[in-house]
Amino acid sequence: MSSKAIAREKIPDAVSLLKAKYRVIAPVPKGKTFVFKKIGNPQEVVLDYNTTILPLKKFFLPPDEVIVKYNLKKREYQEPEIESEPTVFFGIHNYELQGILRLDYAFGTGVKDATYLKKRENNIFIGVTYTPDDYHFAESVGIPTDLKEGFDIFLTKYNGHYRVEALTDKGKNIVSQWSEFLEDCSYDGDPVVHFKNKLKQSVAGIREIFHGAYNHPVWKETSKKCYSCGTCNLVCPTCYCFDVSDEVVLGTDQGARSRRWDSCQILGFTEVAGGEAFREKRYDRVRHRMSRKFAYIMDDRDRPFCVGCGRCIRQCTADISITDVMNALL
Ligand code: SF4
Ligand code: SF4
Repeated sequence: MSSKAIAREKIPDAVSLLKAKYRVIAPVPKGKTFVFKKIGNPQEVVLDYNTTILPLKKFFLPPDEVIVKYNLKKREYQEPEIESEPTVFFGIHNYELQGILRLDYAFGTGVKDATYLKKRENNIFIGVTYTPDDYHFAESVGIPTDLKEGFDIFLTKYNGHYRVEALTDKGKNIVSQWSEFLEDCSYDGDPVVHFKNKLKQSVAGIREIFHGAYNHPVWKETSKKCYSCGTCNLVCPTCYCFDVSDEVVLGTDQGARSRRWDSCQILGFTEVAGGEAFREKRYDRVRHRMSRKFAYIMDDRDRPFCVGCGRCIRQCTADISITDVMNALL
């Protein structure tokens, strides 16, 4: 069967057709950067982008969300109704979807997080190839640019066109509706892509090295520069820690419990009653973050909890690079 392609100028038409049936989330420009947002005008969608400020996790684990409402007097509680509106995530890089697959593991293993999992229903992912910039290092963590795991459709860019591969039944259904925009594809293969940013060693050996690195000087060296601002956690597609707080409306019996993104780099993260903090030293917190990415969860899952998106490097207040820190160990 010959493969199909879509010309770049036909992309808004393809998005328009999707919008008739689905909520469409895609990358759009914001100043000199890009963000994922719900698409109003299909002309806004960009497929040539390096990365977005925040990852897709904001749609599944919002920065601030009510998880239960209650009435103290009646001793009743109510969980909010979660919408699982059919949604197409369009123009997604593969490291981004790998981040979601890791959140699926975190929220779907052991005690399942119904609030998160409900939002994961009715999702369709349409991926697109990207050109790594100075920050991406996904290949070093086992995510080469041609990895298509989890996608329903994958678009490979070539000569002003995108090859269209339908990878699931849901994907085939959409592609069949796009037929008027498609043409025969002359491009066979995957583009050769070079990452400038790399880990010195492939991911397979990292875990062993990590377990012997508890007292490595790189933790203290890095912590001298770190401001403990927490930006690296907030922009990370695989960081999912949250804080929980209760707010009771003054003069009433009504209250709500919310969760908000939290950061293991902030001193208060481990603070408990009485003022004790378990990771009081900044270098402890730096080491903890790296260990979460490359050791602790990897022991269980056999995949690093870093997808090499490079956001924490790009947006670090102190210009700390996770690849530099890791390469000091390798
Ligand atoms: S973003 Fe940079 S400065 Fe801020 S906590 Fe993370 S490593 Fe430290
Ligand atoms: S640790 Fe940094 S590079 Fe790795 S997934 Fe998180 S933000 Fe991306």
